[in-house]
This record gives sequence, C-alpha cells and structure tokens, in this order.
Amino acid sequence: MVKICCIGAGYVGGPTMAVIALKCPEIQVAVVDISVSRINAWNSDALPIYEPGLDDVVKQCRGKNLFFSTDVEKHVAEADIVFVSVNTPTKTQGLGAGKAADLTYWESAARMIADVSKSDKIVVEKSTVPVKTAEAIEKILTHNSKGINFQILSNPEFLAEGTAIEDLFKPDRVLIGGRETKEGTKAIETLRDVYAHWVPVDRIICTNLWSAELSKLAANAFLAQRISSVNAMSALCEATGADVSQVSHAVGKDTRIGPKFLNASVGFGGSCFQKDILNLVYICECNGLPEVANYWKQVIKVNDYQKNRFVNRIVSSMFNTVSGKKIAVLGFAFKKDTGDTRETPAIDVCKGLLGDKARLSIYDPQVNEEQIQRDLSMKKFDWDHPVHLQPMSPSSIKQVSVVWDAYAATKDAHGICILTEWDEFKTLDYQKIYDNMQKPAFVFDGRNIVDVAKLRDIGFIVYSIGKPLDQ
Ligand code: NAD
Repeated sequence: MVKICCIGAGYVGGPTMAVIALKCPEIQVAVVDISVSRINAWNSDALPIYEPGLDDVVKQCRGKNLFFSTDVEKHVAEADIVFVSVNTPTKTQGLGAGKAADLTYWESAARMIADVSKSDKIVVEKSTVPVKTAEAIEKILTHNSKGINFQILSNPEFLAEGTAIEDLFKPDRVLIGGRETKEGTKAIETLRDVYAHWVPVDRIICTNLWSAELSKLAANAFLAQRISSVNAMSALCEATGADVSQVSHAVGKDTRIGPKFLNASVGFGGSCFQKDILNLVYICECNGLPEVANYWKQVIKVNDYQKNRFVNRIVSSMFNTVSGKKIAVLGFAFKKDTGDTRETPAIDVCKGLLGDKARLSIYDPQVNEEQIQRDLSMKKFDWDHPVHLQPMSPSSIKQVSVVWDAYAATKDAHGICILTEWDEFKTLDYQKIYDNMQKPAFVFDGRNIVDVAKLRDIGFIVYSIGKPLDQ
C-alpha cells in the first residue's frame, strides 16, 4: 500500500489530502501538523476551516485511509511520498523583508524529513515557493542523510478558497515538475498515477522543476493583475460616467480576454495574491530585472489605492466625517464561502473608518468576534517601506462590535458597507433595513452585489464601485 504524508494541515493540506484519500481508497494518507488545536479540530465534527463540501469528503474517509495526527516524525518516516504544505508568508525582517518568502517553516520541515527518513522518498512541494527552492531543498536533504534517494517534485496547488473541493474534483490542470533524469521522470510518473485516479491525463501537465515553481507565481500574478486592471478602470468609470459592469461585459466578450475575474471590487485579499506577487517582485530584483519588478509591484499599489479610495468615498459621501456615526460592515472574510480573513480588504477599510472615529457594527456569517478583534488589533506590515505600522489604539477597537445578524448590524446605522459578496446580502429585506436606519441612509457596495436601482427606489443613497454616482 502506497503511503502519503502531508506536512501542514491548513487550507491546502487538509482539503487536498482529503480528496486524494477519497479518490484513491488504496492509498493511506496521513496529514500531520505541529498545531495540536488544528489536528484536534480535523479529528472533530467542527473542522478548522469552512469550505463547502469538505465535511462530507472528510467524513467518508477519516479513520479509513485518512488520518490527522501531530505525530509528524512517525508518519513522515513511514511515507513513500511526502507533501509539504506549510505556510510560506512574506518575510518581515532581515534580507528581503517585505517581499521575499519566509522559508523558515519549509526549511525546518526539510531538515526533519532528512533526519527521520530511513527509506527513499518523493518530496513534493505543495506550498507556493520561490522558483529554485527545490535546489535548496535538495541540498538540505542530501547533506543531512546518507544513502537515501530523495526526488523533489513541484506540484503547486491552484485551488481557490470557497470552491476548494470543486476545484480539486475537477481541476483545470494538475502541474507536476521534476528533474529531467531517469529517477526524476519515475517520480513524476508515480505522482501522475495518483492524480490519474480522477483527473483526465490530458489535464496533467509535466514540466521541469523551475517551470512548475514559476508557473504558480505567474498564475497568481496574472489573476491579481486582472483584478487591479478592472479596479483601475473602475476609478476612470466613476470619473466619466461609464459603468464598469458594462465595460467588463463588453471587454470580457472578446474571446482573447474572456469574462472571468473582471468584477470590480474594493480590492483583492487572501493569503496568496499579495504575498506571491511580492515574492515575484523580489525574484525579479534579485535577477537584475527592476523594470519587470516594478510592473508587478504596480498590481499591489493599485489594490492599496482601491481600498483607500473606497474609504475616502465613504467619508466624503457622509458629509466629510464618519466620527461617531454607526457603520454596519457586512462581510469580513476576503471572499464568500470561506471564513479566512488573511489580508482581507475589510481590515484596511475598517481601520480607515476607525481612523476617522466611526463606530462599526460588523457581521460575517463565518467569522467570529475573536478573529475580527485579533485582525483589527494586529500591527500592519508596510511592504512598501518594510516596517510595522502602529496597531489600532485600544480606544478605537472599543468602537467595534461584532453581531451575528445583518439586521442587528444595520439597526440605527448611518451607513452600510458591504465588503464580502456573501449571497445572503443580495436577498436581505432592504426596505426593513432602511426603515430602521438613520437618514439619509447610505449603502457602499464594495462588491457590486446589490440591485442599485431597487435600493435607490427605497430611498438609499448608493455608491457602487465603478458605477454612475447617485445624483
Ligand atoms: P496554513 O497556514 O493554513 O497551513 C499551514 C500549516 O502548516 C499550519 O497549520 C502550520 O501549523 C503547519 N506547519 C508549519 N510548519 C510546520 C512543520 N514544520 N511541521 C508540521 N506542520 C507545520 O496555510 P495554507 O493556506 O494551507 O497554505 C499553505 C501553502 O499553500 C502556502 O505556501 C500557500 O501560499 C499555498 N497555497 C495556498 C492556497 C490557499 O488558498 N490558501 C492556495 C494555493 C496555494
């Protein structure tokens, strides 16, 4: 029986391994993590992450061929294939601070694999890592073990949070990069056979190691670049009377461009886009390509600009001050169908509003009070001038309440600010909400999900990103 072990039971490690276990019943899959609370949650009915369909997959395999454990060394030692899916955040100090990937977790995982291995292994990079990381990993593994053959593969993950299970069941492609040697080719084939249990072979792309590593960074950079492009266009729409939805529709009908990822919004978030582009910027700089680095940097600058622009629009529309005014924040996660708040635009928007002394009443169906308070009290790291900015003052944090219902959040509010595109926000009883708000009642839709005409008929003053303004 083939044994797989995955180091890192996070948003990627947990769902990907659960799907491998489901699709390959003859393979034993162990997901290991140093976090006891995370593993306990994976072994309970309250999984540590919210992802549609995940509960069902885990329930079908857990205890049969899927195991979650903190006994990292034992499971790594026993495995034939070791996936490494640990976090690779942006470095916040030292060389490359603010841009380079922090590979501390990766390096300690690699050293541990070398220490405990007694048999040959395929080591798979599942985390997103800088191009050429496999070379460093090879050095760590071969210099720390004797007589063991390690084959390193790059198998970056392209799932999107909120649709992870769907994406894993029907991936656009699975990418496997390896050394172009006899052993490298054999290792690629072994991993390809795992995926071939459910992924059509024409969707499994095999490349050299560096192409696979770089493709993941490139894919995230392209996706984020589309969002920044449409967001930059949204500012021009507002200045000229064009409607960004109409522009996106017209532009996306061009088959060379396509319609996906063309929705204007308050900005992108999540743990990956910013971090991976910064990583790309750093790699370009290290390779003597400053113009290329500056091109990608602009994608993040436009994203920051979009968040600031949104806050400024709220304050200026509400008669140039939100001091003492109650603003209902609907949605805090970085996108719908996830409880993940890493790099969510909501953090910057809320901090901007608190900076002008607003009172915030926040509701998100999947994010709890503890998480929101923690996100808002954390120091922010400024990637552009690598320093930690001061955290919010405790008095500002007191201006925040977290409630478990959109109607409670909006009661007596002066304005509503929609920051996540949860479906339930589209079908709220806006007449009832309007009746219970201060007047004039404002809606600032950072995701362009509400029916603007309907809300204006009710009496709201509505601002939607990139749309003609209320007269
Ligand atoms: P995560 O923070 O949710 O999970 C990482 C886990 O690794 C944590 O639970 C941590 O405790 C564990 N860990 C760290 N060091 C360890 C060690 N030495 N031994 C055992 N466990 C250890 O991160 P994530 O969102 O799952 O992302 C993992 C990687 O996948 C990152 O490189 C990320 O860029 C990439 N990625 C993420 C997504 C996404 O949507 N989240 C998508 C594609 C790729």
